[in-house]
Amino acid sequence: MKHVIFAFTLCFLFVEATQAQSPRPPVVVTPEALAIHREAIVVDGHNDLPWQYRKRNDGAFRTYDIARPQPELHTDLPRLKQGGVGAQFWAAYVRAEARPRVQAVKDTLEQIDIIHRLIQAYPADLELATTVADIRRIRKAGKIASLIGVEGGHSIDNSPGVLRKLYQLGVRYMTLTHSETLDWADSATDTPKNHGLSPLGEDIVREMNRLGMMVDLSHVSAATMKHALRITTAPVIFSHSSAFALADHPRNVPDDVLKLVRDNRGIVMVNFYTGFILPEAVRMTRGMFEKYREFEKKYPDEKEREIAWKQYRKENPLPKANIHHLVDHIDHIVKVAGVDHVGLGSDYDGITDTPTQLEDVASYPRITQELLNRGYNKEAILKILGGNMLRVMEAVEQTAKK
Ligand SMILES: [Zn+2]
Repeated sequence: MKHVIFAFTLCFLFVEATQAQSPRPPVVVTPEALAIHREAIVVDGHNDLPWQYRKRNDGAFRTYDIARPQPELHTDLPRLKQGGVGAQFWAAYVRAEARPRVQAVKDTLEQIDIIHRLIQAYPADLELATTVADIRRIRKAGKIASLIGVEGGHSIDNSPGVLRKLYQLGVRYMTLTHSETLDWADSATDTPKNHGLSPLGEDIVREMNRLGMMVDLSHVSAATMKHALRITTAPVIFSHSSAFALADHPRNVPDDVLKLVRDNRGIVMVNFYTGFILPEAVRMTRGMFEKYREFEKKYPDEKEREIAWKQYRKENPLPKANIHHLVDHIDHIVKVAGVDHVGLGSDYDGITDTPTQLEDVASYPRITQELLNRGYNKEAILKILGGNMLRVMEAVEQTAKK
């Protein structure tokens, strides 16, 4: 008996070691995968291209004309087409840190303006969508449906009135927090002070349900995730979050919450950032928001700070992830929550280190291929690529109608 156990252990160790050592082969896209991919409405939950324009103070879109290849960015129109993207949520993100909140409201309006004008600047390829019906119609016309998500409740300065105006401007999700805890909601990467949501936070979730704005739980603490899931009457989203069980970053989604997302009929859209999907990299990124706060104190000047931060990141490179690590997260969410509750939320142009074979917005067909390789059927793949998100958004629209 002892020998059997010993042999079993050895065998187990051997399997573990092989998995860790032998790299999994690159994904090669086949015509079969491409055909499925073309049939799908590929929806991505989070892209930070608007922030790239803000960083360069370029509201005229002169630095980056996305009609042409822009190798400095993850995103441009030729690659969006290559990637078969059907609908993109553009993030209206502004800094929450070290600023009066009222400044965030102004900055957010400017970011929404940038998104509106970006869409107007490329009318042959982009069109604003605020409903699922819009997405289907725009996709049929061969264009990319463009949606707006506001990344962080600091953007409304504690005001349900501002929230309502954001909805009127076309905003269809709001992430409850970014990296900072607010008066009414705790972030995953800051000191908690509300045990989740405050009474105002509960009211804001209810108001979002009433308006038909999706409640986005990326970036919030696990307590806030659970609290919001208790309050909401509509399905929630995680616009760009991965699985905590595989990579224990506090802004990833733990298994008990994945089960609640299943019961809520919501969706977790996986984030592609190496620092959120690879455990070795998580060890390095866990303190990143904390580190950035130190830099803010040390370098009050934003330009100086950016240079110092770039240097710091260069001196502390992350280990390399690849497409298999990302699809492992999809697999895990399917295993715990089910195939109806997972989607894609790349975070392109908001992240630095991207996995091999997922370098930019042209990469999505490889995910389709890898899902096929892992035995997913066409129906399941169409759900993961975008069908699930459309179902969630439709349910949020229905809840608002009630
Ligand atoms: Zn984010």
